[in-house]
Amino acid sequence: MSQIVHAERAHALLSASGAHRWLHCTPSARLEATLPDTTSEAASRGTLAHELAELKLRRALGLEQMTGQKYAAAVRKFKANELYEPDMDANTDAYVDFIQGIVHSFQTPPYIAVERRVDISAYVPEAFGTSDCIIIGGKQLYIIDYKNGQGVPVPAQENPQMMLYALGALQAYSLLYAIETVHVAIVQPKVWDEPSEWSLTAAELLAWGESIKPIAARAFAGEGEYAPGEHCGFCRARSTCRARVEGLLSIEDKASLKPPMIGWDEVADILRRGDGLVKWYSSLKEAALAEVLKGGDVPGWKAVEGRGSRQFADIDAAFIHMERYGIDGALLYERKPITAAAAEKLFDSKKMYKQVLEDTGHVVKQSGAPTLAPAEDLRPSINNQVTAEQAFGGQ
Ligand code: SF4
Repeated sequence: MSQIVHAERAHALLSASGAHRWLHCTPSARLEATLPDTTSEAASRGTLAHELAELKLRRALGLEQMTGQKYAAAVRKFKANELYEPDMDANTDAYVDFIQGIVHSFQTPPYIAVERRVDISAYVPEAFGTSDCIIIGGKQLYIIDYKNGQGVPVPAQENPQMMLYALGALQAYSLLYAIETVHVAIVQPKVWDEPSEWSLTAAELLAWGESIKPIAARAFAGEGEYAPGEHCGFCRARSTCRARVEGLLSIEDKASLKPPMIGWDEVADILRRGDGLVKWYSSLKEAALAEVLKGGDVPGWKAVEGRGSRQFADIDAAFIHMERYGIDGALLYERKPITAAAAEKLFDSKKMYKQVLEDTGHVVKQSGAPTLAPAEDLRPSINNQVTAEQAFGGQ
């Protein structure tokens, strides 16, 4: 089977990848369908990474016969793409290594499907999805997805996109294979060193599928209340959705709060809402700029040229020119040591980097500055209070 073209994947009205959104805000999918589907550079880069990951996986699992020469030529083509970034190689390797680890954990070779389209219309009207990798063996079903982004961590736990893929796989394969346990995993190397994993029983998954049927039916019909929340982040309507705007701007109500000082419970609420407000304001400015650039009218606003930057038209010619004017050539170049993060990219794999630099103590990890995060953030909480052990030296 040849590689699929990821950018041309068809989309259902209720997509599995958007389930997090339409399950919370049921009218969102119909509203989004009225708006243009724009793509970002990050999304295109993600598509490229998925294609590279698929190529590597098919070859590693023997699903695609390729000579070393043909494979090397294909990888070179990816590396020549302007969206390619050096860590894409190590990150897609991490995805392939993880899957190979699962495949080799079975006593007999499991069934494997790569980039398999699964029908989920039994639960979500007219819906389907494409799972990056499905593995079945020993009454276990694995659904594995690769995520290239780093802005938003995507945990596997109770992830509706993965659960919908799993439901589709369960339906497609349960006649052929007995499946008792479902494992979902998300490999997001830019966020986590290890993939995020979560397991549930097939019976629990099926019960969840039944529970979302009425919600999916409402979403398909465009019924229900608009419900703003953190799921608005990737909604096509996020800039000008009235429910979102009204929800965000209601922060002004706090101005009339009594007594004169607000309490920490109110601070917590305002911080949460203010965070959404900042993100929304940026996207609103982008939307208004796009509108005026295409000739539309946003009263009181116009597009102007931003601050430009200076660069050499021909760097070699410019340096020769400066030297002729008496500038010492040695002053024209800087020699700076690379960072530990840049050094990692010089190794063939993260594992090798760790063995050579971290395990030998040449790179030590330093804690980052404390930062405020919402309670649901997966990192453990810290404080600067002295513990009894620190105070008394463990005596
Ligand atoms: S922006 Fe938020 S509230 Fe508005 S339609 Fe999209 S998901 Fe719903």
